[in-house]
Amino acid sequence: MESSSLSVVIPVYNEEENVGPLHAQLQAALANWPGDVEFLFVDDGSTDATLELLKRAQMADPRIRIAHFRRNLGQTAAMGAGFHLAKGRAVVTLDGDLQNDPGEIPRLVQMLADYDVVCGIRTRRQDTWWKRRSSRIANGFRNWVTNDDIVDTGCTLKAYRRECVERLELYNGMHRFLPTLLRMRSFRVVQVPVSHRPRRAGKTKYGTWRRMKKGLADVWAVRWMKKNWIPYEAVLEVVETPENLEVKSQESV
Ligand code: UDP
Ligand code: MG
Repeated sequence: MESSSLSVVIPVYNEEENVGPLHAQLQAALANWPGDVEFLFVDDGSTDATLELLKRAQMADPRIRIAHFRRNLGQTAAMGAGFHLAKGRAVVTLDGDLQNDPGEIPRLVQMLADYDVVCGIRTRRQDTWWKRRSSRIANGFRNWVTNDDIVDTGCTLKAYRRECVERLELYNGMHRFLPTLLRMRSFRVVQVPVSHRPRRAGKTKYGTWRRMKKGLADVWAVRWMKKNWIPYEAVLEVVETPENLEVKSQESV
């Protein structure tokens, strides 16, 4: 694929009122994009008209790709499927409820010239006081336990070079730890302020307590991974026999 190709990965679960307007905003935001673009919607087992509406939109815009789970598996699974299916050199994720602004995408992708991962930090966050407060506590605790400084890991608006995400193996809940897990793999992660908008249609899929409990329990798994990570690639040398080298150079012709 050409160097400026872009995949926008959008996990959607019962977002029937939002997918149409979001598609229109994506089209407008990327109208002048110099390379190939795909809008990869991952329908996480919606029970409303989300899938139907996406299929209809796809007939008018072939840049829409749709992946669909027959049942709800959660946001991490939807993002993981999107990462594996994405074809672009750059991969951007954003929420399907219009809380992230597609207009931010070009700026984030441009920053991939100097970084491997660009993470949004939601400024003037348009969520309830309760949600903002609990997310601040969760981010603080997560950073303390995993020894990191990710300000707003819950912001789905992020841009990645494809090599960061194509081989990631994700477990349920791990979408909250992607910057930490990628730093662990020596990728260069940067954080930038992005705008945020209120959810105007549909419902949040998370209750504060359940999310808090799961998020806080998962930090210990990530701490363990970080502690036991083996950065073997930094010290790896493969010693080939002359015959093997011969075969390799013939294969690459
Ligand atoms: N989502 C999903 N599967 C789920 C829960 C959420 O694909 O099981 C999607 C949802 O449709 C939205 C995004 O993930 O596009 C973020 O969810 P939500 O807006 O409910 O989270 P909040 O903004 O309240 O943190
Ligand atoms: Mg939301």
